[in-house]
Amino acid sequence: MNILYKGENIEYSLIQSTRKTISIVVDSERRVLVRAPIQASRQEIQRVVEKKAAWIASKREAIAKCQTQKQELANGRKLWYQGNVYLLQICTETNSKDKEPDSCAEISDENIIVYVNQGQEEEIRQNLMQWYYCQARQWILQRVEYYNNGLKEYINRICIKDQKSRWGSCSSKRNLNFNWRVILAPPEVADYVVVHELCHLRHMNHSQEFWSEVAGILPDYKERRQWLREHGQKLMEKI
Ligand SMILES: [Zn+2]
Repeated sequence: MNILYKGENIEYSLIQSTRKTISIVVDSERRVLVRAPIQASRQEIQRVVEKKAAWIASKREAIAKCQTQKQELANGRKLWYQGNVYLLQICTETNSKDKEPDSCAEISDENIIVYVNQGQEEEIRQNLMQWYYCQARQWILQRVEYYNNGLKEYINRICIKDQKSRWGSCSSKRNLNFNWRVILAPPEVADYVVVHELCHLRHMNHSQEFWSEVAGILPDYKERRQWLREHGQKLMEKI
């Protein structure tokens, strides 16, 4: 299907499903995708798309402009997630403002798709970081709970932080802090960070007792730690 806007013929593809509202997405290749409820008629959909023609045209123009400017967070930028490399794909969407923090981005095949409204670099970064923090929090809380099932240590608070050089820390108040970048590392490496900090609740040092506590939970902790020593720095790079 297509619309005419200021003499330009803009094609769009249509997917109808059991959703309630019509949404329009302009992807990083400037393609227009319209999602609509099954019961919506073609004319009805066409009317909605035509009303949004100016918005669609401006998004397509902005994307073309973005592609010629050099941006750090541009389409195709490599991003780590749980030990794998994905390619950033930026998607401008009509209703992206109403999105929950954990749905302002998503993984699809080899891409991390970030949904934005305007598409400036700051907005892309903000939405991507919001999503990373959400994923990090969910994953870390779940792993802390899993490993603390056996340890049964009292934890006061768990914080997810942005730290330049540390992966985690444990305070005398029994607060555990984790770097959000833990979510960039392979899960088995991230598990080592979780177990390391949990064991500090028993031993606030790096004594023999501390390391045997860690080894009791993760017998191969040395390999996991080695991965972090060798590859950790590249996960610390600025996004
Ligand atoms: Zn330590």
